[in-house]
Amino acid sequence: MISTFVIEKRCLVWIEQIEDKSLKSGGIGESSLETYFLLALVKEKRARGAILKEVKEPELASNHVLAKVRATSICGTDVHIYEWNNWAASLAKPPKIMGHEFAAEVVDVGDNVAHLKKGDLISGETHIYCGYCHQCRLANFHLCQNVKLRGVDMDGCFAEYVLVSENTAWKNDPSISPFVASAQEPLGNAVHCVFAGDVTGNSVVIFGCGPIGLCAIELCKSAGASEVFAVDVSEYRLDLALKMGADQVIDGRTTDVVSTISSSLPDGADVVLEMSGAPIALDQALKVARRAGRVTLLGLPSDRVTIDVSNDLILKGLNVQGIFGRKIFSTWDLASRLLKGRQVDLNKIITHKLKMEEFERAFDLMAEGRCGKIVLTF
Ligand SMILES: [Zn+2]
Ligand SMILES: [Zn+2]
Repeated sequence: MISTFVIEKRCLVWIEQIEDKSLKSGGIGESSLETYFLLALVKEKRARGAILKEVKEPELASNHVLAKVRATSICGTDVHIYEWNNWAASLAKPPKIMGHEFAAEVVDVGDNVAHLKKGDLISGETHIYCGYCHQCRLANFHLCQNVKLRGVDMDGCFAEYVLVSENTAWKNDPSISPFVASAQEPLGNAVHCVFAGDVTGNSVVIFGCGPIGLCAIELCKSAGASEVFAVDVSEYRLDLALKMGADQVIDGRTTDVVSTISSSLPDGADVVLEMSGAPIALDQALKVARRAGRVTLLGLPSDRVTIDVSNDLILKGLNVQGIFGRKIFSTWDLASRLLKGRQVDLNKIITHKLKMEEFERAFDLMAEGRCGKIVLTF
């Protein structure tokens, strides 16, 4: 690997060239005589780990922008791919640049880009939708039947520069910092779940206090939930849950979750948000919900789960809903207005700001649950 200095110099030369040549439709890849390189975190092999290496510059397409990454966040999906568990092995297609959560400054625009310009701070939707399938035609873009995932099916954003199609870019309000903007995706998931029904005046139980669960706690309190219970198996994350405003935190390793919640809420919880993906949490989520209550499922169990369908679901008349991703772009719009209006503060969940060179430490922290959101910069 060449030195950082040389890499920076090469990138500079590249950007100057882009600015000088004002890209033609073929992009810099075709118009330049020389090949330039970027530093990127690449999932290269179908095994645990990743490698920080030089990669060839991306080729700018006419409906894309090229953006310099200011901050990028690690997501649970990235951890699965880094660790290479069964779920990742069935989904990921190495070699690919990892990552999908970012804030980046537009440095050049393709010929057909109409609404973005140099200097805009953008983030990007992870679900790259086709725009033509049945679900896209019904405006369910997040459920596109031909969806591709940034950082999984295509190169992602753990790189010095990222290519983003205009239709998946989200222009951030200038008042929102790149660190916060890079962590909007988990907030979006939380917004989609919390506001998929009423929470005002309701008792809420949240299973899983990763970044999405932590955001959900603050959103529920902000929206006037009467009580918020947070369940996790990490002391570190339960402490964060208290900081986000949870009224009571429950350690699932040492406490009988169902009886503890039942003693506070004898009729059951009005709303239950399952954000952990742990099979036992899904079972407990159905049990602690009140009759005719709402159970919203976001966490993805990696295997089949056994639940008592008769007693815990049908006879209770539960409203169970699955949530995948964010509504494009109404969820982004709501999340960004909540950020701008300071109803939610993502700085509270960003526990680590590390350099990309420290990626191994970052992934270890994520795997051990000793962090909230980790933001990486170059
Ligand atoms: Zn993510
Ligand atoms: Zn589609």
